[in-house]
Amino acid sequence: MKKNREDLVSKLIDRDYIKTKPVEDAMKKVPREEFMTPETKNYAYLDRPIPLENGQTISAPHMVAIICEILALEKGMKVLEIGTGFGYNAAVVAEIIGPEGHVYTIERIENLKNISEQNLKRTGYSKNVTVIFGDGTKGYKEESPYDRIYATASAPKIPEPLKEQLKIGGRLLSPIGRDTSVQELLCLNRVSENEYKSYNLGGVVFVPMIGEHGWLE
Ligand code: SAM
Repeated sequence: MKKNREDLVSKLIDRDYIKTKPVEDAMKKVPREEFMTPETKNYAYLDRPIPLENGQTISAPHMVAIICEILALEKGMKVLEIGTGFGYNAAVVAEIIGPEGHVYTIERIENLKNISEQNLKRTGYSKNVTVIFGDGTKGYKEESPYDRIYATASAPKIPEPLKEQLKIGGRLLSPIGRDTSVQELLCLNRVSENEYKSYNLGGVVFVPMIGEHGWLE
């Protein structure tokens, strides 16, 4: 598996998805197979989204690389993730920000919340990743503000609570749009209390973000 992981990371570097050493090192280290179902572990090093449980998917490795690169993560950052799935992306982010940083990740499906917690514990990331069961469109005010916020599910527009919970100088990344043909990855930088600058980073495909400030179930 380790050799397959290294080969995949080399491909992601060649294709320019991985651009920096911290993302390269983290993706070489985190065992993606530990964040998949027993039936799909053999496909861990294909660059594809793979089904998990409850009709959800683990994101494709190139998408995890894109997210981590755009977030420009640094050691010690406090990060909020919306959509834990089985916990892989959170583990990669935790590896990059190091033990002095922390990832808070919210999952709306209790079964996935429980499995991701077990996966993160088994792989040694439970100390700096906290999994929260709930509606991520409301964010997690208790630990705000965050240096970085990212969503791995697609909303109609960026949920207001997430904008409010972002630090000034912080960065938020979220897919926007429901239809798989019109989703776009939006990057928002908080410039001041009331000023945000947004950039459209192009087409992506994610599952819908379902919740009070997202899509209806
Ligand atoms: N981050 C995952 C990974 O490591 O590959 C991918 C997660 S999957 C593409 C998106 C997840 O978002 C699903 O598990 C889904 O249940 C979750 N989700 C959708 N709407 C949500 C919401 N409002 N709050 C929290 N989680 C949500």
